[in-house]
Amino acid sequence: MEKVLQIHDLHVQFSTYGGAVHAVRGVSFSLHRGETLAIVGESGCGKSVTSQSIMGLIPAPHGRITKGQILYGGRDLAKLKEADLRKIRGVDISMIFQDPMTALNPTITIGEQITEGLMQHQRLSKSSAKAKGLEYLKMVGIANPDIRYKQYPHQFSGGMRQRIVIAMALICEPDILIADEPTTALDVTIQAQILDLFRKIQKQTGVSIILITHDLGVVAQVADRIAVMYAGKIAETGGRRDIFYQARHPYTKGLLQSVPRLDREEGDLVPIPGTPPDLFAPPKGCPFTARCDHAMEVCARLDPEKTHIQDAHFVNCWLEDERAGRGSSTAEKSTITNF
Ligand code: SF4
Repeated sequence: MEKVLQIHDLHVQFSTYGGAVHAVRGVSFSLHRGETLAIVGESGCGKSVTSQSIMGLIPAPHGRITKGQILYGGRDLAKLKEADLRKIRGVDISMIFQDPMTALNPTITIGEQITEGLMQHQRLSKSSAKAKGLEYLKMVGIANPDIRYKQYPHQFSGGMRQRIVIAMALICEPDILIADEPTTALDVTIQAQILDLFRKIQKQTGVSIILITHDLGVVAQVADRIAVMYAGKIAETGGRRDIFYQARHPYTKGLLQSVPRLDREEGDLVPIPGTPPDLFAPPKGCPFTARCDHAMEVCARLDPEKTHIQDAHFVNCWLEDERAGRGSSTAEKSTITNF
């Protein structure tokens, strides 16, 4: 499958009064044309910073990409100047956020806002832009688009506003849509409608979607592939079935056990003990060591490398690495000290 985006060994740091925060530490993944890749993990794991890096939205001078490549359309976005990134943002790669009000100007009509990008980037006339604007409002399920076109954001419900933001993000026909917690602020029924809309739009337009979320329920409904992040690194990647039914990384298993499911009793929920490591001074070795029931001597000393499980399923954990004796007991593995 064609890769529309490739990220190699991305590192992002933020300078603060307390020192440098190593928010993203060697993240690599690809996005295929027409797929939905969900990036999941606890708050602060680096998933939003990764997506902001793709958009060139890391706030300089305090934040910066210190290493790595973000390859799109034969160019490395990590090295582009702001003026060049501006030509890509909203046109080739679009982004939507949790709160649609932050993306909408309360003093400008929906029609003007939705067509602004078209007139600016695609140089469409006002009437052509309006025709396309109405078409996209209809596509995202806004009834009576002719009337709604002239209205202001406050005249729409939260779910409607998110639909409008999705239309705005897609109207220039981008290759990639990055959706950062797009349904978190919505109630469950509206959330289901928005997720349905993502599926429908993807089928219609072929857009590739990166979905950033902490909500595994959302992931289960729309993701083709999943990348699980922990402490600024990728812990595990795989297809939906790999992650939900055959997870290998202890952190992924912990995440799955800590979310409510219909087939599980309330008492079966098991929170992951402890807290993520301090990214001012990230630990050596596997960052999950302090919380992991399976930790071995090697875990605290060396970072696990990516191990291929099968097909698109990869895990960064010593338990799956041949060199640490795949399949041997934890006690046996704990004696491995030579690499
Ligand atoms: Fe646990 Fe070690 Fe695997 Fe990290 S590498 S998740 S500490 S077993």
